Amino acid sequence: MTLELDPATLRVALCLVLVTTLLLFYAVTYRITRAAFVGHWCLALLSIGGGTLLYVLNGTQAQRWANPLGNAVVVLGVTFAVSGARSLRGLRTPSWFLAVPPVAALAASWWDDAETNVWSGAEVVLGLVGVLSWIAAATLWTDRRGDVARLQRVVGAAGALFGTYYLLRLVFFVLLGPDDAFFRRTFGAVPTTLAILVLLIAITFTVAALHTEQQTMDLQVRASRDGLTGLLNRQEFLRLAEVEARLLARARRPAAVVLVDIDHFKQVNDQHGHDAGDQVLRSFATSSRQALRSTDLLGRYGGEEFVFLLPGASTAEAEHVMQDVRLHVTGAGHDGPPVTASFGVAPLEPGERVEEAIAAADAALYRAKAQGRDRVVVAEG
Ligand code: GH3
Ligand code: MG
Ligand code: MG
Repeated sequence: MTLELDPATLRVALCLVLVTTLLLFYAVTYRITRAAFVGHWCLALLSIGGGTLLYVLNGTQAQRWANPLGNAVVVLGVTFAVSGARSLRGLRTPSWFLAVPPVAALAASWWDDAETNVWSGAEVVLGLVGVLSWIAAATLWTDRRGDVARLQRVVGAAGALFGTYYLLRLVFFVLLGPDDAFFRRTFGAVPTTLAILVLLIAITFTVAALHTEQQTMDLQVRASRDGLTGLLNRQEFLRLAEVEARLLARARRPAAVVLVDIDHFKQVNDQHGHDAGDQVLRSFATSSRQALRSTDLLGRYGGEEFVFLLPGASTAEAEHVMQDVRLHVTGAGHDGPPVTASFGVAPLEPGERVEEAIAAADAALYRAKAQGRDRVVVAEG
């Protein structure tokens, strides 16, 4: 048995599915997120659905204008996919760029016997859809920002698949022509409509999930970092330090905990203003980070207090590293007023809770303050 699907019915079904998807996507995702790339994807769905609907008029009187217009609108839809991918990367797309591909498709189709030829302008239209899909895919893939959402690459892969299908359509259209049996079976109206249906639904769901993934990553960063210095906040430092402490205990390795407090910080604020105070905190974070190894943890413990965990370090080694940090802090070459800081160092014994070690470091810090500040003191015992 051969399954005969008629293109017109299939196209109407495709449009209904796309319109339903678009409405749901708009109501559920766009109205809540208002994200630019989600808006662009709504326009892409609308255009691809609308363009496909115009193809239903093929074979009627209206084909003369409906076929070129359908081509132009479908190409516009894929152009919106490119501008959507760009906006996901924070890039703007000039409006003339949105106009060029559809106008090229319209022109190529209009002057190619659109009245009698349902494949009017096919070389240009197929080529444009293929290349634009690949541009969208490449835009998503070559995103060099630190933590790119994993789903962004999935959407890119779907775009590349779509682009490849259209470029193959172009090649076989040129080689075999539209009436060839193989071409009709593999790249004709029926398989293409089915391919569009599957891919657009898949991309739409992924784009919706992508936004959630982006938001979750954003919230994770915001919940774990201190807004002023970018260091770990107290909660996240303690969480990561406890995890590290368990690993260290299992390996029976030593570690040191350090608590730092900037000296007479209230005076810095009073004499130079709160912004200068903020600058001191940021400089402290930057210079401390430079003195540390990648396995060390550094967090903002409170106002002008910072906390370090140095895995593998004895208290003597930690004291040495902190003398380095202390000289960095007091040294010249910082923005903002000069400051000093006091340091309390304590060992983290295998099996000991991080908070116990911090309490010991706090007692040592208290002694550093009492002894005249601007110094590193190691816990007794
Ligand atoms: P000590 O040498 O004994 O540590 O004296 P201190 O003045 O540093 O200590 P104190 O605890 O009295 O003052 C800390 C000040 O830090 C008070 C508070 O206004 C300021 N502070 C806390 N958080 C911030 C912040 O985010 N930005 C700025 N600019 N100041 C802050
Ligand atoms: Mg303090
Ligand atoms: Mg202080």
